Amino acid sequence: MNYNTLEDKDFINLISTSSDYYVIMFGASWCGPCQIMKPVYDELATSHKYQKLVKFVYLDRDTTRHYNQDYGFEIPTIPRFFLVKFEANGIFSHFNIKISFGGSQSLDSFNQKLDDYFSISNPQKNANTTESPNIDFSEITNTLTNMNTITHKKPTVAIIGSGPSGLTAAIYTARAELETTIYTGLEPGGQLTTTTEIENFPGAWDATTKAGMMGPDLMQLMQKQAEHFGAKSVLTEIRGIEIDDKAETKFTLDIGGKKEKFDAVIIASGASAKYLGIAGEEKFVGKGYHTCATCDGFFYRGKIIAVIGGGDSAMEEANFLTKFAEKVYLIHRREEFRASKIMLERARENPKIEFVLNKAPIDFMGDEEVTGLVLKDSITSQTSELNLDGVFVAIGHIPNTGFVKGQLSMDETGYLIPQAKRPPEERTSHYGTMSEIPGIFIAGDVEDKTYRQAITAAGGGCKAAMDTEKWLADQE
Ligand SMILES: Cc1cc2nc3c(=O)[nH]c(=O)nc-3n(C[C@H](O)[C@H](O)[C@H](O)COP(=O)(O)OP(=O)(O)OC[C@H]3O[C@@H](n4cnc5c(N)ncnc54)[C@H](O)[C@@H]3O)c2cc1C
Repeated sequence: MNYNTLEDKDFINLISTSSDYYVIMFGASWCGPCQIMKPVYDELATSHKYQKLVKFVYLDRDTTRHYNQDYGFEIPTIPRFFLVKFEANGIFSHFNIKISFGGSQSLDSFNQKLDDYFSISNPQKNANTTESPNIDFSEITNTLTNMNTITHKKPTVAIIGSGPSGLTAAIYTARAELETTIYTGLEPGGQLTTTTEIENFPGAWDATTKAGMMGPDLMQLMQKQAEHFGAKSVLTEIRGIEIDDKAETKFTLDIGGKKEKFDAVIIASGASAKYLGIAGEEKFVGKGYHTCATCDGFFYRGKIIAVIGGGDSAMEEANFLTKFAEKVYLIHRREEFRASKIMLERARENPKIEFVLNKAPIDFMGDEEVTGLVLKDSITSQTSELNLDGVFVAIGHIPNTGFVKGQLSMDETGYLIPQAKRPPEERTSHYGTMSEIPGIFIAGDVEDKTYRQAITAAGGGCKAAMDTEKWLADQE
């Protein structure tokens, strides 16, 4: 093993004594993707060119959950990796975190991320460096950050998001000879990196084993395909878009202090499923706890499952799941429903659905996989247990659109509205994927609360890229 596993006390010791760069992997013994990543991480620790500058450690997510609050580590899913800089002064905060990324990574993509960081931080430093680790990169980074507004010569496209829609858009724009930069956000690869086998993405299927690809592998392949055609990936989150109609290059992206200019922008920032927010749920995601009936319902043939929620999507998912499951409990914390009358009636008439009302889940049962839920009665406060093979939560999604709030119109739940989804009298362009601002296009789950599938998101990315290409040609 070429990296050290740290205990809590070791981490505290490092904060006080070390002034080095460290790559930290957060993982857990119950997390399949973490186990897959460990050998890759080990190889990186042996081979990495910044040997004298960067050290590698592993932290157990289960014993370090408080690090989120104490030190600013944001860990939506594991495995998660951070490049951090210790200052040997006993203080560690989120300011010491330089970059973070999650999901499965190849050795190449790992190396690339570290190379990108160090070459941006210190352009003089070449990849074969063996310099001492005492250089203050932060000063150089800050200077560059404050000075830099990079301008390009070729038509340029920024793609915000690296899920199926963003990466498909990147494959198309890069092949169309547009200078393409993908801003990956904090979840490189998007939602599919949080799941295991994908059985419904056409072509990503092994005819011999009859198995679909693993989500992280599929996304890594898409990223490689986009990069093969010339797209560049930057691991960062976009904070905002400045628009100047009079400027030669209209859009300036705010990349955390640094600014970069582009001729067109494709927003493919996806939507995040809302989870219940009860303790320990992270551990069960994909192990009996799901957010997508279309994706995972198939695995529950003849089983007993529950759907949680009281809106149209909960009714729809419950009905859909009865195709597979022997019985579906529909658990809702009230007696009143947000669902439309027709959807509610359809669920009530389905003999396989049993309503469990005035009950809210407060805990999961099971060790490695979900075996049931502990429910609390919202009137009597009494608790009860319900044995289950699986749980589907259907309490909504949050589109990742905060960075364009007030600039682009959204529906009541925050989803962006491309031209094609507007009433004909409100359309301002014939480009179906364009927003109301010419040059900003929209793709994937960030505008789609109906289908929310990898293939529909990829299709949206393709359409947005083709519209972008045509629109840019029209501007010449
Ligand atoms: C557990 C699970 C299992 C699933 N299983 C399946 C399945 O089997 N089959 C299927 O077809 N679908 C499945 N889905 C649904 C599928 O993953 C989504 O429909 C699809 O990923 C949407 O793609 P997208 O590109 O629109 O967005 P996402 O995949 O959500 O990607 C959004 C991207 O935007 C980035 N981002 C967000 N904000 C910013 C910002 N400010 N700056 C820069 N980047 C940003 C994120 O980091 C991420 O890379 C599943 C979803 C989940 C959660």
